[in-house]
Amino acid sequence: MAITKRTFDVVVVGAGGAGMRAALALSEAGLKVAVLSKVFPTRSHTVAAQGGIAASLGNVNEDNWLWHMYDTVKGSDYLGDQDAIEYMCRNAPEVVYELEHFGMPFDRLDSGKIYQRPFGGHMQDFGKTPVPRACAAADRTGHALLHTLYQQNVKANTNFFVEWMALDLIRDQDGDVLGVVAMEIETSEVMILQARATLFATGGAGRIFSASTNAYINTGDGLGMAARAGIPLEDMEFFQFHPTGVHGAGVLITEGVRGEGGYLVNKEGERFMPRYAPNAKDLASRDVVSRAMATEIKEGRGCGPNGDHVLLKLDHLGDEVIRHRLPGIRDIALKFAHVDPSKAPIPVVPTAHYMMGGIPTNYRGQVVAPQGTAPDVVVQGFYAVGECACVSVHGANRLGCNSLLDLIVFGRAAARQIIEDLKNNPHPKALPTDAADKPLARLARLENQKNGERVADVGDAMRKTMQTHCGVFRFPDLLAEGVQQIREVAERVRHTEITDKSKVFNTARVEALELDNLIEVAQATMTAAEARKESRGAHAREDFQERDDKNWLKHSLYYSEGHRLDYKPVRLKPLTVETFPLKARVY
Ligand SMILES: Cc1cc2nc3c(=O)[nH]c(=O)nc-3n(C[C@H](O)[C@H](O)[C@H](O)COP(=O)(O)OP(=O)(O)OC[C@H]3O[C@@H](n4cnc5c(N)ncnc54)[C@H](O)[C@@H]3O)c2cc1C
Repeated sequence: MAITKRTFDVVVVGAGGAGMRAALALSEAGLKVAVLSKVFPTRSHTVAAQGGIAASLGNVNEDNWLWHMYDTVKGSDYLGDQDAIEYMCRNAPEVVYELEHFGMPFDRLDSGKIYQRPFGGHMQDFGKTPVPRACAAADRTGHALLHTLYQQNVKANTNFFVEWMALDLIRDQDGDVLGVVAMEIETSEVMILQARATLFATGGAGRIFSASTNAYINTGDGLGMAARAGIPLEDMEFFQFHPTGVHGAGVLITEGVRGEGGYLVNKEGERFMPRYAPNAKDLASRDVVSRAMATEIKEGRGCGPNGDHVLLKLDHLGDEVIRHRLPGIRDIALKFAHVDPSKAPIPVVPTAHYMMGGIPTNYRGQVVAPQGTAPDVVVQGFYAVGECACVSVHGANRLGCNSLLDLIVFGRAAARQIIEDLKNNPHPKALPTDAADKPLARLARLENQKNGERVADVGDAMRKTMQTHCGVFRFPDLLAEGVQQIREVAERVRHTEITDKSKVFNTARVEALELDNLIEVAQATMTAAEARKESRGAHAREDFQERDDKNWLKHSLYYSEGHRLDYKPVRLKPLTVETFPLKARVY
């Protein structure tokens, strides 16, 4: 079958904040850029980000980037790479001002400066008192950010391929990446997009769990494609559970609510966080708050008839503050929890939210993989940014508002690196003759499968396995069983059948293809979690409750082939400042 081929300088997969920030810089540099997205660009999950983007502007109280760096290193439970963290925190104010100049409608203080609110784990003076560092546009910061970047991209003539799904990477015999094979969702037309540089910005994979704050499109496609092309996935055992998902619905209630003065209570009406984090209280980092909530529930102090959630109280903020600063949260509370937050508390539970792991990169956005004894050898032509990448600035636990920052800082950094790299690489390399064979074979299998299982049933089995076996607290027997079960589910994924071939919107085909990616992420997460015999950040084991720096201060690397795990050292040395030494993490 002849397949259409189109050639670009750069193919960006993903039109969230990360992909669009990179695409903007690339288009502005005069490169021919294609951006692919499964959904209309402004519907990418970045649009749902509520609370803010972190930068030490110091608009409310004194602040500086070194404090921000310290908080991020500590928040990561010392697993974050300190060179990348320095780079991100130092560049934060500049990229936020850049967004302001692109026209992003931030809220304002009376002084006219950008509004900032406190967020979990962001402190003054190396961890002393909470500091307002989250730059916000009400509780719709991601919405403001994504629309601003989309408009700038339109102006810069970026080529959008809307409702196109990338299926697989093209890698040649030297291991170089030469583009992607993609499918137009509406028609199932398959096309090769050849490029001198390929940038993945495909976002997270929260949909491996049943209860998740993530959009349905967050299926880890970039990780699945990378894993199938032999690239390892880094630190997949670290998955963040956000403390405040609406009980029963999963929809997120931003930490900004606690930043504005809201707090958590148990069934006795007790504000319990001071018992767990005397200093930061409800603004401790997310792993700490989620574990405290899970402990309250486990010890019988949960609320409701089943004692399975706690309450987020914000009525004392007053109706006016809620309507002005948290209008979206008011809507969500009314629609999904059926409570008016100015009158009654919102029922909440820890909910799967953010993937700290991902495709391994350096702080220039280049994808790196071990070769021989070298831990970080650049994969030519391949870049990754945003939630699908592991730089690693978030280590074992991400601080709130550091993700939007990560998208913008590293989106811009990757674009700059690509512009440099392409100067030395004027022509596209020849494509291998079998460039599209693997994705075409996957499509053919789906088309021809008879008496297979329903995609939805196998997907449910995967999500249930992850939820039960790999949650906030992790138990040795459940993890061991989980590894076994998730392998069995993976086997079932190979025999799914599309029951609805009518191609109405083609959703059945897309969901089947997404499941191929989800199952790669799920296996990586479960396998790496079972193997890590310590507790660090979001990874909390019942049988190894302490952090073990002697044996486990290292990044995991999961290879899909053979489900093999490898490890590489943490980059403890920052770019210019002194290393922050390892300490016990107390809030
Ligand atoms: C409800 C919610 C609230 C949040 N609030 C905050 C916050 O206040 N502050 C903060 O810092 N972080 C927040 N986060 C985290 C942050 O929003 C995300 O980590 C971040 O937006 C991810 O951005 P991204 O650009 O990496 O990917 P996304 O915005 O998820 O975009 C991914 C893009 O990839 C495309 N794509 C995926 N697969 C394919 C494929 N196979 N082919 C083609 N295109 C593909 C999608 O169509 C989409 O365009 C929040 C997250 C959630 C879920």
